[in-house]
Amino acid sequence: MSELRCVSLLEKCRSLNCLLQIHGYAIKTGCDTDPFVLSKFLLFSAITFSDTMDYACLLFRSIPQPDGFMFNTLIRGFSESNMPYQSISTYAQMQKQGVKPDSFTFAFLLKSLINCGSLNTSRQVHCHAMKHGLDPHIFVRTSLITAYAAGGSIVCARQVFDEMRVPNVVSYNAMLSACLRCSEVDEARRIFDQMPWLNVTSWNIVLSGYMDANELELASRLFHDIPQKDLVSWNTMIIGCVQGGKLKLAFELFEEMRLEGFSPNEVSITGVLSACSQMGALEFGKMIHGYIDKAGFSHIVTVNNALVDLYGKCGNINMASHVFDKIMNKGVISWTVMIEVLAMHGHGVEAVELFYKMVESGIEPDGVTFVAILYACSHAGLTQKGIELFNMMKDCYHIEASMEHYGCMVDLYGRAGFLDCAYEFIAHMPIKPNAVIWRTLLGACSIHGDVILAEHVKNKLSEIDPENSSDYILLSNIYAIAGKWRDVAVVRKSMAERKMRKTPGWSMIEVDKVVFSFVAGDKRNPVAEVAYEKLSEIINRLRSEGYVADIGPVLHDIETEDKEDSVSHHSEKLAIAFGMARLHPESVIRIVKNLRVCRDCHTMLKFVSRVYGREIVVRDRSRFHVFKEGSCCCRDYW
Ligand code: ZN
Ligand code: ZN
Repeated sequence: MSELRCVSLLEKCRSLNCLLQIHGYAIKTGCDTDPFVLSKFLLFSAITFSDTMDYACLLFRSIPQPDGFMFNTLIRGFSESNMPYQSISTYAQMQKQGVKPDSFTFAFLLKSLINCGSLNTSRQVHCHAMKHGLDPHIFVRTSLITAYAAGGSIVCARQVFDEMRVPNVVSYNAMLSACLRCSEVDEARRIFDQMPWLNVTSWNIVLSGYMDANELELASRLFHDIPQKDLVSWNTMIIGCVQGGKLKLAFELFEEMRLEGFSPNEVSITGVLSACSQMGALEFGKMIHGYIDKAGFSHIVTVNNALVDLYGKCGNINMASHVFDKIMNKGVISWTVMIEVLAMHGHGVEAVELFYKMVESGIEPDGVTFVAILYACSHAGLTQKGIELFNMMKDCYHIEASMEHYGCMVDLYGRAGFLDCAYEFIAHMPIKPNAVIWRTLLGACSIHGDVILAEHVKNKLSEIDPENSSDYILLSNIYAIAGKWRDVAVVRKSMAERKMRKTPGWSMIEVDKVVFSFVAGDKRNPVAEVAYEKLSEIINRLRSEGYVADIGPVLHDIETEDKEDSVSHHSEKLAIAFGMARLHPESVIRIVKNLRVCRDCHTMLKFVSRVYGREIVVRDRSRFHVFKEGSCCCRDYW
């Protein structure tokens, strides 16, 4: 009886805590060794919940003789986790214990390889499947096609496909996706044309493949050929247009879709909103907001959360909090998104206030909320508060700190100049620090000019992640600031020897429902001329007001743009100049940038905001900068 009770409790279980309680009950009633109950526990911890894989492993280890189903469950759990490779060692264990694999075993194994993309391992798994006579199985074949494509071999994928006697629609679609994954757009089209039957899914796969490959022209043509478009086709097209910066087209499609009788659902709306927030496409987002109100979606919490995120990421904090305030049943995600928005804008105190308000209203914060609030504390210099909240997370809410939380803490100490504390903190972490943690400390060393610690940290980084160019740049900056030019030259030489390339920087600006994207020293851009002309006019005027460009030998900050075209043509400068030339003189200029803003651009933007009386909002990789009357909300600390 207690077995059945356990299983019915499990079905209602929603958290690790609850799972532990039920497990306790199972032990007390002695049904914890029942194989049926055990497989259920395993299924729940490995698959149903997303972050309980460690618990699943513990449970699995306690089972004396796991059967094939249990092994498959664990392999599947790993394939969906952030340690997909572990599925291979589980399979090895399965063989050692003489448990026979079935077609599911191989399908799950291959799925985990899709996430690691290792071609060699895919080949080995293929051999094993053949040895067990399971390779003709349609599941296994289809997974093989996808795994080979993920490993970069379209040839192997094609071979598997060609050996299939009667490929079904799923395998056709897998082959289509495989071609698109390997950027074989023409081959995809050929397969598509060969298909004996066409369902709307296949059309949609090719459509989204064209979008991913940035082939907007081809996509548009295909889209018009689709005989019976469904909601997915429309969404793919609209989101693709937003991501490609064609907001006007996205806008028209949105209207057309409704005229053809399709009503966007909350999935399409949140999808479009998230595309807008990534692109910083505020105007288009506002239009969608208008539609949301009219179409009666404004009571849906997920839609409102996406709106708060949109306004926040587009730099409009007032609208974000306006939408947030009106949400009736705020869930943990709503609160967390709003805390993130405040954090990104450097409003640390307000973020902390909101956090306590959330707790008071009876909503329990989760791991993501704590990442947001710790981030808020570190960016606002609230060191003591951050430490307090970190302890509260562990002591009051029993949330296991993740790498992200540790990263926030290192940042918190590091930014405030407590480099020794940061180092001590890392040394005492219960999990092995990853490259991001050390990189955070390296960044702090650069802010505070600690050359000795920086060298030590860089050595650690060279062990874990030797090929990361931003670490080299950071170290050479630290040397440059300390005036150690010989060391700067050594670092640069070793970068050149390793043929390292920096991530190219870009900045985007929305003008008249079109998103324009600029790279440093942009020459190919059709609107470059406008931008360059305005830029030189602006710089001349700023010079007369005391602006001096910082074009010394210093490489500036982490991963800022290449100096080949000199600092004066950085992408955000071009974007600003273009905005000044084309936007209404009263309007706020909004820029989205993929890297951090460099010192010189930051200084120039402060000047522009004072001399021209313009408000400028820049979202860079780490936060928002709002430039007004000669100063920035980050207080020159970012
Ligand atoms: Zn710059
Ligand atoms: Zn700033």
